[in-house]
Amino acid sequence: MATQNELFEQTVLIVDDEDINRKMMANILAYEYKIIYASDGKEAMEKIHKYGHRLSLVLLDLFMPNMSGFDVLRQMNKERLIAEIPVIVLTSDKTSEIESLHLGAADFLTKPYDLPEVILARVRHSIELFENAKIIHATKPDKLTGLYTPKFFLEFASQIDSRYPEKTMDAIVINFTRFHLLNQLYGQSFGDKVLVAMADGIRNVLQKNGGIAGRKDSDTFYVYTSHTDDYSIFVDALKAALSPLLKGSEIRLRLGVFSDTAHSHTVNERFDNALQACNSIRNKAGKNGEEICIYDNEMLENEKFQAHLLHDFETAIEQKQFKVNYQPKFNITGEKPVLCSAEALIRWIHPEFGFVRPDIFIPLFEEHGLITMLDRYVWEESAKQIKLWKEKFGVTIPVSVNVSRVDIAAPDMTDFVKKIVSENGLSPQDYMLEITESAYTEDSKHIIEIVENLRALGHKVEMDDFGSGYSSLNMLASMPIDALKLDKAFIRNIKPGNKDMKLVELVLEIARNLGVPVVAEGVETEEEYKMLKAAGCDIIQGYYFSKPIPPEEMEKFI
Ligand code: C2E
Ligand code: CA
Ligand code: CA
Repeated sequence: MATQNELFEQTVLIVDDEDINRKMMANILAYEYKIIYASDGKEAMEKIHKYGHRLSLVLLDLFMPNMSGFDVLRQMNKERLIAEIPVIVLTSDKTSEIESLHLGAADFLTKPYDLPEVILARVRHSIELFENAKIIHATKPDKLTGLYTPKFFLEFASQIDSRYPEKTMDAIVINFTRFHLLNQLYGQSFGDKVLVAMADGIRNVLQKNGGIAGRKDSDTFYVYTSHTDDYSIFVDALKAALSPLLKGSEIRLRLGVFSDTAHSHTVNERFDNALQACNSIRNKAGKNGEEICIYDNEMLENEKFQAHLLHDFETAIEQKQFKVNYQPKFNITGEKPVLCSAEALIRWIHPEFGFVRPDIFIPLFEEHGLITMLDRYVWEESAKQIKLWKEKFGVTIPVSVNVSRVDIAAPDMTDFVKKIVSENGLSPQDYMLEITESAYTEDSKHIIEIVENLRALGHKVEMDDFGSGYSSLNMLASMPIDALKLDKAFIRNIKPGNKDMKLVELVLEIARNLGVPVVAEGVETEEEYKMLKAAGCDIIQGYYFSKPIPPEEMEKFI
């Protein structure tokens, strides 16, 4: 975290043509201030221009060759940007006092100098007055809303931090979705009204929760407030302030929050993170109607972790860090369960993180367009594996592979499957594909076309995760599928006669009428197994029989 000194480092320029005078002054001030020097008026002007407002004070000798101290004062007065920098005049000539004060000098010190403490005190005093003036200048509130300007807001927030280092504060960024629409549709003055109402809402919350608020730009607000776990007071107060104006409109509020419970970030970093959180709502605007996105250290860590995984993807493929495991599926329609096929499931053994769960990296790779490359690797490995087992044991173990909805978009998907199947001398019915239910509901027309192509080639297609999506039971009749995989969340809760079990029985009955076998996955206990068998379930996959295992281990089942 930046310290007060870093934020407000104070630099003093000593201007004197006599080396001994400069050194003497520097001796007195160097403990508290950063000192720079100039030995005549011309050099002084150069330094003043160079440092500008980073200068806290100029100590100026009046009588020097080249350009006098008077001329320096006159020149500074002419230039608006540097006119405010305080100047203390150094002189042995009492009569120059009046003239230099007229020229805007803040104070004067007469040679021979007073005691060092007196000099230090007067320097401090001038600087303090100047700093206060700067803050008052910056505090001029945002004209429209009366909140702080961003510059002062951030400075003030840093001061709160250094004054109360043990307090946990939340950085919150609030803005609107599609605010520009408001201005376009109803005019700027209506937009302004909304912003003022927003500021009022924020002030209401701050009265309860404490803290400060600023307006960053147009519709973006900054709030620095005591940490809370429940941001609904914000949402409620802001809704109350805004809904009379916004009722019925498409405009929504977003809150990005960053709580720095570890106190490891500067104020600027926290607001950057909160803004990022806010923007991440922008990216999925409209999807779930989310209003609050909370960005905390955990999210930050997670983001870094994900970036790491994405970065490592190529190396992982090259170094074969991805392994395909197989989970056996058993047909339970006969007296004894019989191994009938296996599901190929990807595993990533990361050199640094160890085992990384597929439900972490699969969605990530889907989002970043890498999944198809990975899936095709799995598909190919699985095809080779079937061939290998066939050669080794003389039997074919059919394998099903998972298909991401992203894979289906590739125009050469069926060609690719066709290629690996023929290259390994397999017959298509031994190579099955699992497609998640939600893919069917998202783009049913396209998917049905692909599924029909695959089935025409002789492949079996299973609908995966059935029950987790929204397809209705009567939709099933029109779906081209060869098997239904009941989602494991379903199986998790079955008890004799309970709601979930009744649903499972209903699905089994419909599937029976359609002539489609049902696979129950995630079967862990004997009780579940028996209930499913009794209800007429055809195939079972789950820890009850086996976890997903490496191909060598699979061989004990063959
Ligand atoms: P899924 O397709 O629903 O796969 C079944 C998941 O259930 C697997 O998790 C499996 O290990 C787990 N499972 C099996 N039996 C049991 C059980 O008795 N109890 C419990 N609690 N879990 C059981 P896994 O391997 O972690 O994979 C998670 C998901 O990642 C898969 O869900 C699938 O959606 C995806 N996935 C895995 N491999 C691939 C792949 O190669 N390509 C694609 N696109 N997705 C994959
Ligand atoms: Ca699956
Ligand atoms: Ca599944």
